[in-house]
Amino acid sequence: MKIASLRSWRIALPMRRPHTWAGNYAPVGYGYTVLKLVLEDGTVGWGEAQVLKDWGGEFGSRYGEAPQTTKLVIEELLAPLLIGEDPRQIEVLHAKMDRFVRGYPYAKAAVDVALHDAVGKLYGIPVYQLLGGLYRREVALAHSLGLMEIDTAIAEAKQVVDEGITTLKVKVGIDAARDIELVRRLRAELGPTVKLRVDANQGYRSWKEALQVTRVMQGENIWYMEQPCEGLENMARVAQNTEVPIMADESAWTAHDVLRIVQHQAAEMLSVYYTKPGGLLKSKKLLAVAEAAGLACDINGSGEMGIGNAANLHLAASSAIITLPGTIPVTSTAEVVRTRIAGHKYLDDIIEEPFVYRDGHMLVPDGPGLGIEVNEAKLERYSVA
Ligand SMILES: [Mg+2]
Repeated sequence: MKIASLRSWRIALPMRRPHTWAGNYAPVGYGYTVLKLVLEDGTVGWGEAQVLKDWGGEFGSRYGEAPQTTKLVIEELLAPLLIGEDPRQIEVLHAKMDRFVRGYPYAKAAVDVALHDAVGKLYGIPVYQLLGGLYRREVALAHSLGLMEIDTAIAEAKQVVDEGITTLKVKVGIDAARDIELVRRLRAELGPTVKLRVDANQGYRSWKEALQVTRVMQGENIWYMEQPCEGLENMARVAQNTEVPIMADESAWTAHDVLRIVQHQAAEMLSVYYTKPGGLLKSKKLLAVAEAAGLACDINGSGEMGIGNAANLHLAASSAIITLPGTIPVTSTAEVVRTRIAGHKYLDDIIEEPFVYRDGHMLVPDGPGLGIEVNEAKLERYSVA
């Protein structure tokens, strides 16, 4: 069985509200890449990458992808390498892509997910069976409160707790006094049982400022602080001077990054995406390093649409080490609305049947491949040039 064709689109779904964080200037959810990979027998694999031009690794160490470049890399550089190849040899295909094109993990992640979807369908098994089998059926979710006015954030927090969410991810990192006030008010309004995790997106100006904020927020019983400042050496100084667990996100892209984080004792937790390492296969390798080092992990991302969410669910469902609730959006469509506010990013989606949501968890689908069907009429409707 061989790969016959690849085609990609840039998609923009209607949003429930704009979502943003420290250092973000790209319109989140605009122009995300969707990939259709077709095998000789007509079997289709779908992939997705949530590319943001201004989100990347510390000190510009990972950069260069925008939705436009991802589409170009897939269609003009990767497709000619892949057409005619056996889709089951995913490790071989990664090596081939990496030899020919350095970097571009988002483009490669979209290809990797489409390969897993197609191969799962060939064998009639869900993608999680290709990733180690089903470790958990339900994946715990955190709801992300993007940067917004404090009163608006508190109102949204109360609504999502009513919908079953028990962990809130609070975007901070722009103004220490405002951030502390927000966390204080959330704790006061929500009570002691709701878990609060904060994400500064490397926004604090120095490790000392990050440490001061973390110490004050410890008084409000935050669960952990994500990427408080830029650079893993700086983050290590924060991590070694507070009892609050520190999570690495912008500093943690590849399995090698995880090794460096361990060497520097820069974090106790990792925010893992299937995109940052360049696909599901490489994410599993990263998770193996994290597991060996005893780091706790979640599955996170950048506002996945339905295809990307399916990839998230299969990765989380097949990985014992994913013990923390991740900010995986709750997919709804115009026809089927799973949650009113909780995890609800887009008002419609290009997949037909959204995943089941229950008490702050999403269920991994059981069908062959990713277990989703794509509505190609909607794919065309939401595509942008
Ligand atoms: Mg983050």
